[in-house]
Amino acid sequence: MTTTSRWSAPCRHWIGAESRWCGATPTRLYIQGPRCQQHTPARLAGHPEPGRTAGRRPAHA
Ligand SMILES: [Zn+2]
Repeated sequence: MTTTSRWSAPCRHWIGAESRWCGATPTRLYIQGPRCQQHTPARLAGHPEPGRTAGRRPAHA
């Protein structure tokens, strides 16, 4: 199993305001591609992740 390489893929969310990919790790693989915790499809849609608290985190450090 290549779990390490799969999880270390950089987030592919496009940050238009900064004209760059997010690039954060670790990520989870979604249909749209690898996404960090801040940029999951559910999070971007305005919904909290299932089984996760709705607390918002500040932007990437
Ligand atoms: Zn991201």
